[in-house]
Amino acid sequence: MADLIACPTVSSESNLEMMAYLADRLTSLGARTELFTDPSGHKANLFATIGPDRPGGIVLSGHSDVVPAVAEDWASDPFEMVERDGRLYGRGACDMKGFIAAALAVAPDYAAAELARPVHFAFTYDEEVGCLGAQALVRELARREHRPAMAIIGEPTLMHLVDGHKGCCEYTTRFTGTAGHGSAPERGVNAAEYAARYVARLLELRGALQARANADSPFDPPWSTINVGRIEAGVAHNVIAAHAQVDWETRPVRPEDGPFVSETMRAYAEEVLLPAMRAVSPEAAIETETVGEVAGLIPMPENEARKLVAELTGANGAEVVAFGTEAGLFQSIGMSAVVCGPGSIEQAHRPDEYVSLDQLGACLRMLERLGSRLAAA
Ligand SMILES: [Zn+2]
Repeated sequence: MADLIACPTVSSESNLEMMAYLADRLTSLGARTELFTDPSGHKANLFATIGPDRPGGIVLSGHSDVVPAVAEDWASDPFEMVERDGRLYGRGACDMKGFIAAALAVAPDYAAAELARPVHFAFTYDEEVGCLGAQALVRELARREHRPAMAIIGEPTLMHLVDGHKGCCEYTTRFTGTAGHGSAPERGVNAAEYAARYVARLLELRGALQARANADSPFDPPWSTINVGRIEAGVAHNVIAAHAQVDWETRPVRPEDGPFVSETMRAYAEEVLLPAMRAVSPEAAIETETVGEVAGLIPMPENEARKLVAELTGANGAEVVAFGTEAGLFQSIGMSAVVCGPGSIEQAHRPDEYVSLDQLGACLRMLERLGSRLAAA
């Protein structure tokens, strides 16, 4: 874990050093290890397998990237692991290098056992900036003949068993109008005003989303949400705003709600706002950039991964959480998935991030039991 924390894998930087380290360790144990680089060549996913070459394996999934750390806010160097009072401190300690280190620590046991079912290590890039690595990895797995059956995502849940979380779809919508003097608004196309109408429509959709929520939704709040995170437009009081930008997101609790929101907004922009803008200026435009669309993890009546992890951890029942993970992506290709990992999300993305030794111990016990189960299966 100290070696992993020493790799400053902030999402904006390369993760290749850490991936080479993980690949070395796993290859030396006899794992079949594959590295998939992203188009830039500076980031990679690692997918490694121990056990037989057959479908039905279990994926241990963790992201390699971490959020930035401002050193002055920390009691010690964020990229040097420090042990204090039964806790291990460092950026990524709970989110989620603790889990990756635990998976690596049990790998020699897996390699020594005669596994009846394969175990796969899936370590990804760019989770913190839209699950980009996991999206690429899941596309790769979907093409394979021998697909794993389930995934355990080791995001920090205090080792609680989690079988549901919302999705997260982020968009940037840009409005291009025509500038002019503020005294003659009818001669220009005011991008700020069209952005305001767009935002008003977004807020109206909140009511529609509440009405669409399932009565037995386990989420809090039970419906899909919309947030307008940033609005930027114009230059001065007396100038018609030529440009505007709205950064917004929706967090669907049901998979249909994501397309419902994006399609409603696309139609409103193209069929209502844009014709009005173009009536004044043919160059007027509205463009929506999809920053990321990350699938939620839908709680399912049947979930093989939930059954397995409940047996391994002794959990009775599963919970849902508010934060997003890569689990929904694995579920989207027909795998069953749960989130269960050491440490608390409360410590993630904060100065003095830590994971307790107790939590790591509980995680190691789960993974050791998994090894026995896979050997006996
Ligand atoms: Zn994370």
